[in-house]
Amino acid sequence: MKVWLLQKSGYVEMQDRPEKVTEQMQIKVRISKVLLSEPDRELMLGQDPAAVLPVIPGRSAVGVISEKCDCSIQLEKGMRVYLHPVYACGVCENCKSGMPLQCTDAKVAGCNAHGFLREFAVVSLNDVTILPPSVSEEVALFTEWLAIAESVLDTLQCSKGDHVLVLGANLLGNVISQLLIYRQIVPVLVDHDPEKLAYAKHCGIYYTFLCDETLQENVVRVTGGRLASAAVHASERDIDPSLAFSLSAPRANVVYAGFGQRDLNVNLRTAMARKQRIFCVTEGKKHIASAINLLANKAIALPDLHFDYHGADEIKSVLESLKQAPQDFRNPPVIRML
Ligand SMILES: [Zn+2]
Repeated sequence: MKVWLLQKSGYVEMQDRPEKVTEQMQIKVRISKVLLSEPDRELMLGQDPAAVLPVIPGRSAVGVISEKCDCSIQLEKGMRVYLHPVYACGVCENCKSGMPLQCTDAKVAGCNAHGFLREFAVVSLNDVTILPPSVSEEVALFTEWLAIAESVLDTLQCSKGDHVLVLGANLLGNVISQLLIYRQIVPVLVDHDPEKLAYAKHCGIYYTFLCDETLQENVVRVTGGRLASAAVHASERDIDPSLAFSLSAPRANVVYAGFGQRDLNVNLRTAMARKQRIFCVTEGKKHIASAINLLANKAIALPDLHFDYHGADEIKSVLESLKQAPQDFRNPPVIRML
């Protein structure tokens, strides 16, 4: 069965490998679609410090169950499933004590464990979620953004009507802002890129501001002088992470959110003066079911999305092209594996 493997040399090679159900509690999934996004780009650029090569790229995927063990009555052959990108190792102390959500060595697809650019994947039946008929495969590919957004909202601990500063109008910042609105919290979204802010407005996000010398004044005005009740930094690299402290109130919770490790140099002076609390969110494995539920309820709108479809025969060239300029998240590359 075909797999696409990123070698240490940076070269992507197609190989034939067996994928067999060998243990109880496993299922075999025929991968149908894989979305290539920012984490795959960082992997291809060699900028993911947690990556363990050789590795199969592809973090976001959906597929169809092709083989199952007898141990699950819920899962059936032919069912469409979302494959969890982050899962428990199964061998650490917490996993062995029945606390997989507290796993100390979580596996991340396309990073320190194989991703889904392959024909079949054998996975634990706990590491897939059934897709309801109302959620298309394409929409389901965005599950992790919503799951991380849910985890961020959990951490922020905000109440209805609060203002939350969101730094970064990339896909994650946009989804977090829309989820805040869905929960009747008011996002104040900030970015350097007027195009991303215009798209955010098109998605229904009302307060959007450029990250320039007028920002402080704008945040003071919309919050009635109180500053933000909490802040999220979701920007890849280009927004100063210390801004989250100066634009939010004393004792505010500040969350740094993203898909993995990245270099962020933060000046903590203001955070210490204001006794703010700092958190990091890099995955949402606890929230996958609720993320799929939010997708089914159409809680998040991403209008004018144009998927850039490719066949499996183009995988090598699409992975190579990820190394160019960051992609526009409105045209995400999707590999059709079927
Ligand atoms: Zn573990």
